[in-house]
Parts: sequence; C-alpha cells; structure tokens
Amino acid sequence: MIAEENSEQIEEQNIKIPVGISSCLLGEKVRYDGGHKNNSYVGKTLGQYFDLQAFCPELDIGLGMPRKPIRLSRKGSDVIRCIPVDNPELDFTDALAKSANEKKQWHSNLCGYILKKDSPSCGMERVKIWDDVMPIREGVGIYAGKMMENFPYLPVEEEGRLGDAVLRENFIQRVFIMRRWYQLKEQGMTLNDLLNFHARHKLIVMSHNQNRNRELGQLLAAARKDNVLEVAEEYLLKLMRALKIPATRGNHVNTLQHIQGYLKKPLGADDKLELTETVEKYRLGQLPLIVPITLLNHFFRKHPDEYIANSWYMNPYPEEMSLQNHI
Ligand code: SF4
Repeated sequence: MIAEENSEQIEEQNIKIPVGISSCLLGEKVRYDGGHKNNSYVGKTLGQYFDLQAFCPELDIGLGMPRKPIRLSRKGSDVIRCIPVDNPELDFTDALAKSANEKKQWHSNLCGYILKKDSPSCGMERVKIWDDVMPIREGVGIYAGKMMENFPYLPVEEEGRLGDAVLRENFIQRVFIMRRWYQLKEQGMTLNDLLNFHARHKLIVMSHNQNRNRELGQLLAAARKDNVLEVAEEYLLKLMRALKIPATRGNHVNTLQHIQGYLKKPLGADDKLELTETVEKYRLGQLPLIVPITLLNHFFRKHPDEYIANSWYMNPYPEEMSLQNHI
C-alpha cells in the first residue's frame, strides 16, 4: 500500500498541472504600452511543474496594442466601471465580464490561476478605484472578479504575493490539492473516494484551522451514496476556503505534535527527545518546517504507519520545490 502511494507521488511529479496566467507575466508584450511584466520565478521555476496557459482579457475584448490605459472608476455609491483614462464615455466592464464567462470551460479545467496585480482587468484584490478625489485600493479586476465568482474554489494568487514564502507555499499547495481533486472526479467519485480524499488531507486542514477540519468532518458524516456529488461540491468549496487562510506556525506545531503521537510506542526516549526538541525549535522560528517533517519521515520509514504514509501533509508537493525550507 505504502509503495503504491510512493509511485503515485512520483507519477504526479512528472505531470505538469494546468494553471492559467495573465499573459504579460510570461513576458508576452500585451500591456497597454506594448510592454510586458515577465516574472522569472513564475515562468522558470513554477513553469517546471505547471503548464502555464496564458490569457490577456484586454486583447480578448479587442483592445489593440498599444492602447490607452483603462482603470476602475466609481459611478454612484456602489457601481464600479472599467473605463479608459481619457474617455469616460467608453465602458469595458461588461465586455471583460463576458470574456471571463466565455472562458468558463477553460477555467473549469485549471487547477489554479496567477494574476497580474493592480490591473483593472486581472487584479485579484486592492486594485485602485478612482472617484472624484483620490483612488482607493479596494477594487478587483473585472475579468478576475467574474472568474472568481464563477469558480470560488479555484486557487488564485497574484504574482507579487508569490514573493512571500508563506503565501507562495499556500498557493502551490492548493494547486496540487485541486489537481488531486480533479483526478478523483475524472475517475468518477464514489463515497469511499471522497472519505479517503478527506482522510489524506486531514492533517493539512488541521495545520490551517482545526475548527474547519471538524466542520468538514461533520459535512462528510452526512454523505451517502445517493448524495455524494452534492456533498462533494460543498466539501470542495469549504475545503478551499479553509486552505486559503495560510497555515500558522502554531497550527503546524499542533499538527506535528499530533503526528508525533503515532510514534509514541515505537520510539525510544532519545528519539522522542530529539523530535520534541526539533518541533520546539521550529515553534521558536529557529528551524524551518522542512526539518521536523524530514525527521518525522525518517522515523516513519523505520516505523511505518499507514495513515501517516497516506497523508499528503508529509509530502504535499515535489520536494525539489523547497517550499518548506522557507516557512
Ligand atoms: S489585461 Fe491582464 S494579461 Fe493583459 S496586459 Fe493587463 S494585466 Fe496583463
């Protein structure tokens, strides 16, 4: 069983995961001024694992290049429109929302989306909204907003935030989980598959939020063979909402200590002490997460446990991504 899981993980590492991306981040010269915003970390590093599928909504709706810049503007108290800077009579709001709707089929096959920050079309959050006085950073790009409304569970992140180790790890982890979810759906999800999926991700959810873990457990307790697809849909949404909030060091410590409990019997006093000290150093910020995880994996190789071996917490994405070395 454990050998099977290892080969499954190796196989997963070799398949590139479909992820959408704002075209300008891949170096395509599609910006209003004819330039790009190439992000080499995304293109070169994430591109080794993700099949990055580029799209520029402004080109899609027929705005030429170069073109006049557009921006979000408040009309009345609540209405936000996307208009050219130099011509408030033109309005691209509906066209950008339509572009997102027309891409629903494509979006439904993606495991994540990387967006260009600050863009009135692609920005995920804190996009400037202009009114008569000063711009306020509380807008969402029109295309991005519609896509997130259509697919509220889709892992979405901005390139600027990927520079933060915790947010980067959080996004990439969600992309891998989304991928595993689609694989399960492709093969036809049974009640047993759904319960097994949750069991294998339980420790990951625990590291994010223990209460959400309980809620997901309660939801699944109501799942039956005849309602499994509806429950699965609700489960995915709740799971992705829970995982969107980055795991804290404190919650990781609780999770690591919980896992440590599975080694209570087989480990000798010296090994137990080493593990406890390592988790404590992680708690104090003296060691990154990879160290207690590596030590735990080392002990579980000697004293295998099926539940832990099957848990994605111990091996959530390819090791070479080195994400746990920085959190
Ligand atoms: S619309 Fe999006 S993809 Fe196109 S240039 Fe602007 S930020 Fe980049």
